[in-house]
Amino acid sequence: MALYVQKYGGTSVGSIERIEAVADKVSSFRRRGDDVVVVLSAMSGETNRLIGLAKSITSEPDPRELDVLVSTGEQVTIALLCMALQKRGFEARSYTGAQVKILTDRAYSKARIQDIETERMRSDLAAGRVVVVAGFQGVDPDGNITTLGRGGSDTTGVALAAALKADECQIYTDVDGVYTTDPRVVESAQRLEKITFEEMLEMASLGSKVLQIRSVEFAGKYKVPLRVLSSMVDGPGTLITTEDETDVEKPVISGIAFNRDEAKLTVVGVPDIPGVASRILGPVSRANIEVDMIVQNVAGDKTTDFTFTVHRNDYEKTKKILEKVVSELGARECSGDNKIAKVSIVGVGMRSHAGVASKMFDTLANENINIQMISTSEIKVSVVIAEKYLELAVRALHSSFNLDATDTVSE
Ligand code: ADP
Ligand code: ASP
Ligand code: MG
Repeated sequence: MALYVQKYGGTSVGSIERIEAVADKVSSFRRRGDDVVVVLSAMSGETNRLIGLAKSITSEPDPRELDVLVSTGEQVTIALLCMALQKRGFEARSYTGAQVKILTDRAYSKARIQDIETERMRSDLAAGRVVVVAGFQGVDPDGNITTLGRGGSDTTGVALAAALKADECQIYTDVDGVYTTDPRVVESAQRLEKITFEEMLEMASLGSKVLQIRSVEFAGKYKVPLRVLSSMVDGPGTLITTEDETDVEKPVISGIAFNRDEAKLTVVGVPDIPGVASRILGPVSRANIEVDMIVQNVAGDKTTDFTFTVHRNDYEKTKKILEKVVSELGARECSGDNKIAKVSIVGVGMRSHAGVASKMFDTLANENINIQMISTSEIKVSVVIAEKYLELAVRALHSSFNLDATDTVSE
């Protein structure tokens, strides 16, 4: 008998039929004698619909009220699942984040979990009940409802698994595991048997939205056994593990992540003097805009160009800030491009293999794709390219690093 925390995402609870199917799945674990704590998302599209309602009243909704609003989607699905379980003869109880209680800090729309009370869940489990918890939400020290950021139900699942010391946290979604790249973009993508926390963290940070970044951080920190599986077809899914040093066969590249959410800005003709980077980026960070990649060119005629990327939603705001900076610094102009994309190759195998970056650059050159920016770390290489070449780039890299499904079949 084991204790599982099972999180089901939006598509998996997107209709009454799907909710009934989740109830069947949970029932099969209960019949085997396992204890189950379920974490649910809102029905797919519901969170966006709620945000849309708020935006139809005001472009800048009050953050407290927005969290009260968007947390309602999950309250619907938890109650419906309990009814479906009860219909099957199983005892079940639903709880909102505040009822559990999942205590967070006060940062509306991006709150962090600080503590979870487990007594109520434990006594329900001991009484033979299935516990069904609303994902994505918590409560701050003053009793206000908070939410954990888009995709936050993954983090609720992992945090509950850590608090309850569950045997496994299972993330059920609409694909049957973590793939070498988004299977909706590259048909020949392959499911990975396992991937390390470190790699999964990079994949998630670099755009693979199959798991929320914080859920992976949390699982790594608290050593939560984590598995991604399909809610629709049975299978082993993908296990997120710690690195196996003895695995000599590990591939150089485990996966390819990409992100269309970025925009690039350049301050052209900046005087090449100390303090310039901070005078450009200071006002940007004071406006709470996160900067991702940064490139400063070598100075030619005592001036240089300074380029960086931000989230595409922050593009116009950043441009306005830079226009002011341009005149203050006596730079030539500010230019920008919001039709860019970032493609990254990720793998712990890179540590022991030279030439990975140059292979990436060769592949892109062969497709005539121009690289605009590059950034590297120990286990990833990212490039910025024009958005229109994104799919071509991902497919070409997928095949040149031998990740295509046919590559292993024929070996
Ligand atoms: P849920 O609603 O269950 O939380 P998400 O839409 O958040 O589901 O995440 C699942 C989606 O993640 C998949 O449908 C897939 O398109 C996308 N995805 C992106 N990168 C990957 C990857 N490397 N492996 C698997 N899925 C990926
Ligand atoms: N419903 C929330 C969202 O769409 C949380 C989640 O599904 O994980 O972001
Ligand atoms: Mg998700």
